[in-house]
Amino acid sequence: MSKVLIIGAGGVSNVVVRKCAQNSEVYSEILLASRTKSKCDAIAQDIKNIPVHTASVDADKPAEVAALIRDFKPELVINVALPYQDLAIMDACLAEGVNYLDAANYEPKDKAHFEYSWQWAYHDRFKKAGIMALLGSGFDPGVTNVYTAYAKKHYFDTIDTLDIVDCNAGNHGQAFATNFNPEINIREVTQKGKFYKDGEYFEIPPMSEHKSVDYPQVGPRESYLLWHEEIESLVKNIPIKQARFWMTFGQEYLTHLRVLEDVGMTRIDPVDFKGQKIIPLEFLKALLPEPGQLGQNYTGKTCIGCQLTGTKDGKPQTYFVYNVCDHAECFKEVKAQAVSYTTGVPVMLGGAMMLTGKWKGEGVFNMEQFDPDPFMAEIGKWGLPWNEVFGQKLV
Ligand code: NDP
Repeated sequence: MSKVLIIGAGGVSNVVVRKCAQNSEVYSEILLASRTKSKCDAIAQDIKNIPVHTASVDADKPAEVAALIRDFKPELVINVALPYQDLAIMDACLAEGVNYLDAANYEPKDKAHFEYSWQWAYHDRFKKAGIMALLGSGFDPGVTNVYTAYAKKHYFDTIDTLDIVDCNAGNHGQAFATNFNPEINIREVTQKGKFYKDGEYFEIPPMSEHKSVDYPQVGPRESYLLWHEEIESLVKNIPIKQARFWMTFGQEYLTHLRVLEDVGMTRIDPVDFKGQKIIPLEFLKALLPEPGQLGQNYTGKTCIGCQLTGTKDGKPQTYFVYNVCDHAECFKEVKAQAVSYTTGVPVMLGGAMMLTGKWKGEGVFNMEQFDPDPFMAEIGKWGLPWNEVFGQKLV
């Protein structure tokens, strides 16, 4: 029975809080804190079986987070605010000696660049303080890291290729919207594509490499090679010769994105507007639907998985492990669309792995560094069942 502080009250947080309440054997009391307290209250009011307190916090300020920790005394701080806050919240955890978990790696606000080095640099300090940080406990990163560790543990002696494929074949009925925070999403997809091969990284122009992938229960969808953060930790922790990440985009999304880029609306540098400095992407975010509000009429499915090739016992091996999730089913259960759902469930479960001592450590860790078996044994029960296919190549 553990108390947790959850920071952020957006689409993912809504799922995390509800899922923690469903797992009340592990989570006994929650303090939900975010920039806008009314958003915390809106989530908390639906939870009846465990206490959920709410507070406002500016998580860019470690002292504010530390004050909440001192007052509430949680065993774990779950960060589902934005990647910009990662380091400030880690600083607060270090100051107060509390464990930490997040779902996305740190990204400086003024540079669309995300990598683990900033957070890995906390390893020795977390170790010295005798506390643990679990990084990237969403779906991708998160479940995809565990899938890869599971494949390595049970089915591969050597891994030649890893292809992570992420398909959202849903329809939210909006002309243009993003399924998670618009700023973070647009920063991610407008970057150069990047993949790993034989010890080196290779960059390609954004969206320049794509192919049709035949997703189970969804069918063929055009998938684009993107840089995604789990590649960085996976190739560090597991010997893999080539690792790539693919995501589907519809033509409508890509056309809107191109126009927004062409007119400068995705810029992240300040521009003068009527005597004020504004950042175009921040302004665009204010106009777009919030990810947490997309669920109501969302139909269709997501399919996210990992395809690996390599060898087992001297013979060639091909393996695909994946989850399919239905937007409308998610909304029925937790008032969320499937992208928030597939992220929120593993946040809750990663936290439960820490709080029950199934995953233990001192320092800063990624998901694939722990035994995948207890996580794989439980994730289906919490709403994200997985399937596996042998001997068939999708990518
Ligand atoms: P939202 O934009 O819906 O929610 C973000 C929340 O953080 C909002 O409630 C926002 O408050 C709050 N927030 C922002 N800045 C601060 C601050 N300085 N102090 C306190 N609270 C703050 O995003 P999502 O819920 O979609 O995403 C949450 C996180 O999950 C992101 O880091 C995202 O990158 C990650 N993610 C990870 C995935 C994975 O598979 N690993 C997939 C999808 C998302 P306010 O409402 O007041 O703006």
